[in-house]
Amino acid sequence: MARFARLLTVSPRWGILCVSITFLFSLSSFTLRAQDSSYARRIIRDLSSEEMFGRGMQNRGDSIAAEYLRQEMMANGVKPLCKNYFQYFRFPQTRTKPPIVKAGYQSQNVCGYIPGETDTMIVFTAHYEHLGMNGDTVFYGAHDNASGTAAVMDLARMANLQRGHYTYVFLLFSGEESGLVGSRYFSENPLIQLSKVKLLVNIDLFCGGADGLMVVNANSRETRPFVDKLEAINDLHGFAAKIARRDNAANSDHYWFTSECPAIFIYTMGGPFGGYHSPTDTCDGCGLGNYHRHMTLLRAFLEQL
Ligand SMILES: [Zn+2]
Repeated sequence: MARFARLLTVSPRWGILCVSITFLFSLSSFTLRAQDSSYARRIIRDLSSEEMFGRGMQNRGDSIAAEYLRQEMMANGVKPLCKNYFQYFRFPQTRTKPPIVKAGYQSQNVCGYIPGETDTMIVFTAHYEHLGMNGDTVFYGAHDNASGTAAVMDLARMANLQRGHYTYVFLLFSGEESGLVGSRYFSENPLIQLSKVKLLVNIDLFCGGADGLMVVNANSRETRPFVDKLEAINDLHGFAAKIARRDNAANSDHYWFTSECPAIFIYTMGGPFGGYHSPTDTCDGCGLGNYHRHMTLLRAFLEQL
């Protein structure tokens, strides 16, 4: 809103007119830039392909996916937050059920940013790894969470086309399915100054959405004004069927950040998606019929921060 604020100092009446025109223009420019879900579909299809082995630790599926996402960040003009975009960490515990992993296995978060006019940051997060394999069974993880990863990369792509006031940070975590391991490591070894984060938005489960969007950690003093704004925009335009709210829960990667900065977690409600923690969670099962409207809502919301 900083550039709108300058307009408002000229004359309130003209300011309001300019704000309205600018807002409508902004909306139409997202519409042009995000007019379909083809970019997200490609990312989801690639991440949930056989070649990624369910993005778990067997056959280094997590690392194959991380390298793919590093290339995608480079293609979208996202700069590295650390050497080669990779923040390495090791799993503290052995697991014998999916995601199967040995203690000490090294994985990586993929971390980048797009600078803005200020070093105040809006952070987007999603976990890219999934359950991997159990014997010959592949857990493809299109809904969980190739879809959220695709949405974060799509936001990066659009942020690069239209640079803005805030610095945008993109964190793609590994180890979520093993107990939020990668995001915990990042929160304890942050590559950014968390006190400068205006808002962190975690996206996990973004296929379907016939019944709208759920916001987790929506009721804290720090986050409620943001969720009110999101809901007000949605009430005006009807992008999502509904915006629902939940209290905080340790159910995804936003959790470790909630004591450091305003952090919310958004997931879709309702189908279609192929399954949850099941080999049926495939790209073909991932409905993206609501994707464009949900992304337009997020973009409109970001324009008003
Ligand atoms: Zn997930």
